[in-house]
Amino acid sequence: MATGTGVSSWTLDHIGIAVSSLDDAISFYERTLGARLCLRETIEASGVELAFIDTGDSKVELLAATRSDSAISSFLASRGPGIHHICYRVSDIKGELARLKGEGFTLIDEAPRPGAAHSQIAFVSPRSFMGVLTELVQPRGGSTLGR
Ligand code: ZN
Repeated sequence: MATGTGVSSWTLDHIGIAVSSLDDAISFYERTLGARLCLRETIEASGVELAFIDTGDSKVELLAATRSDSAISSFLASRGPGIHHICYRVSDIKGELARLKGEGFTLIDEAPRPGAAHSQIAFVSPRSFMGVLTELVQPRGGSTLGR
């Protein structure tokens, strides 16, 4: 895992895609990719229902809004369905957030918050990430979701 550069390596965990209907999107991805649903969960605090589709080395996360004031609702209203964020798995999310903050990155979440499957997550603003909304995830116990 260590890169020898003093920076811990980030592993691509999933690509988040905003969808209007979670059921329709799950069946589309299962049918088209021959992939399987590995987790479905509602994160009430964020107003989002999500589903992870296992695509081998990484995953696709389908995101649907559960209420009109959620971030996914605003995203869908302004841009329609499509790629929402990229997520990297890290082993020390607090350490990485502190490092990014020290380097001048704009953090949406200054501290980790609960994500799916008892993980901890935090978002970094696309303004400081070359236009890409970027999520960090530290899985519970450091294991990989669904495996
Ligand atoms: Zn995500």
